[in-house]
Amino acid sequence: MAVDLAKFRRRLKSEQSRLLKEIEQSTTEASLPRQSSDGSPFGKREEEANVTFEMGKRAALDSHLQKQLQEVEQALQKIKDGTYGLCAECGKKINPARLEALPHATLCMDCKSKRAENDNHRFSSR
Ligand SMILES: [Zn+2]
Repeated sequence: MAVDLAKFRRRLKSEQSRLLKEIEQSTTEASLPRQSSDGSPFGKREEEANVTFEMGKRAALDSHLQKQLQEVEQALQKIKDGTYGLCAECGKKINPARLEALPHATLCMDCKSKRAENDNHRFSSR
């Protein structure tokens, strides 16, 4: 019945190092000198669009990774605090099956879907 903290910590730790590595890799790639297209305002248009697209994709990926890392670190902090497995919103226990599938989950299914609903309302009322 009790949540196996050691197991989740191991999983979170490996997830953390995987994310850190991925972020490191993508930032290294991003900092490589970009090819400039000077002298040719009409050529390479397609290529440029591609580069922009790739960069946008990479930035999106980066922030996605950062967010994931943040969640993983939050979960690790919760393990330290002894609040791991409790919903950050209502304080109820998160379904162990949910933690099993998503060790860095911080919300129970109810709050998660409520929050998604709220987001939708906010989005559509604008
Ligand atoms: Zn909740």
